[in-house]
Amino acid sequence: MTATLLSNAADQSLRARAAKVVPNGMYGHESTILLPASYPQFFQRAEGAHIWDADGNRYLDFMCAYGPNLLGYNNRRVNDVATAQLALGDTMTGPSPHFVELAEALVGMVSHADWAMFCKNGTDATTMAMTAARAQTGKRRILVADGAYHGAAPWCTPIPFGVVPEERAFIAKYHYNDIASLEAAVAEAGDDLAAIFAAPFKHDAFVDQLLPDPAYARRARELCDQTGAMLIVDDVRAGFRLIRDCSWELVGVRPDMSCWGKSFANGHPISALLGNDRCRMGASQIYATGSFWFAAVPMAAGIETLKILRESDYLEQSIRLGTVWRDGLDRAARDHGFVLRQTGPVQMPQILFEDDPDFRVGFAWGEAMLQRGVYVHPWHNMFFCAAMTEADIAFTLDAADYAFGAVRAQLGSLEPHPVVMMMLGAMAGEH
Ligand code: PMP
Repeated sequence: MTATLLSNAADQSLRARAAKVVPNGMYGHESTILLPASYPQFFQRAEGAHIWDADGNRYLDFMCAYGPNLLGYNNRRVNDVATAQLALGDTMTGPSPHFVELAEALVGMVSHADWAMFCKNGTDATTMAMTAARAQTGKRRILVADGAYHGAAPWCTPIPFGVVPEERAFIAKYHYNDIASLEAAVAEAGDDLAAIFAAPFKHDAFVDQLLPDPAYARRARELCDQTGAMLIVDDVRAGFRLIRDCSWELVGVRPDMSCWGKSFANGHPISALLGNDRCRMGASQIYATGSFWFAAVPMAAGIETLKILRESDYLEQSIRLGTVWRDGLDRAARDHGFVLRQTGPVQMPQILFEDDPDFRVGFAWGEAMLQRGVYVHPWHNMFFCAAMTEADIAFTLDAADYAFGAVRAQLGSLEPHPVVMMMLGAMAGEH
């Protein structure tokens, strides 16, 4: 099969208009500035496992909106409930009864949790966790793993333009999975340690993913118990994608708080901070609110999504399909003389190329996949959704075979991407 050249006239026109009325035309990782040139910026529609760009090109979407799409876009059951609630009311003067039911549902599913608080974005949840930990302990220092993403607030944004050092004065780093570095950071914090943050597994951009070493997770728990600090698992990205519980149940460690977002209402805008009774007082003291945090529609959608998660085999299916994909991609890459580094859980795969330090091969592969109607990401972990089928996986493996061949044919003429080079330089400087 050959590739078709995709039209992008509508996307180009939107970009030109955006450049005039939006700084840089786009911001955050939704900007395609860090993606291959042919990646579309704007999308008009999504259904099941597919997205349509502004020009009407359809892609099988392995980004799932960077995580929120867990059951499939426009899931009928979730959206019927959401639409029914919308007809009744959404943002009102106070929350709807769904507020209580959703808190009960989450506390019922997540073993470590005794309480829930709702907010809008993952950054709200991680920032509230930090604040609640400080309120609870009366201490200041927060430990985070270097390279981990916890959101876009001044205390944690990876690109700190406009952030003054004082805003990060009490944030210190350790290396994920490295007990000695964690112990050293705890010792350094002395009697001023408020919290240790941990991602459920290392899912940083641009690098291989790493599953948590259970000994590291247990040590983090012990250190918090010894010092009185709060252990916080940031499950915003991986929540309910590894287990129907907090992800660290898989390593037998219960945090004091966990942060949730993205997928538990299948794309409806809501996030949550869950916690145990050790930090209920701190959580009850902080001032936390937002105009849209109590909206009824996302809460109704969340309750229905959680029901589906409990009733269906969405998780087992994503692991089954993810395994077929990983094995098939490995074989197809080898057939064309490439070695892939596929890391992390199969249902949240990071796919990098061996011997591709400036990502030029990965970018070219992504562009070739896109031409064949598959949206993959060259440096961020990807996601499976429950709407993906065996036929979809077979389709992508066929596309991958084409794409590896296409990249092999242009290998000598590939160029590094200037913005990615800048980004990698900045990351190297920070470490
Ligand atoms: N934590 C993690 C682990 C995330 O992946 C993200 C978002 N990618 C966030 C926090 C922040 O979430 P949001 O973008 O919804 O603020």
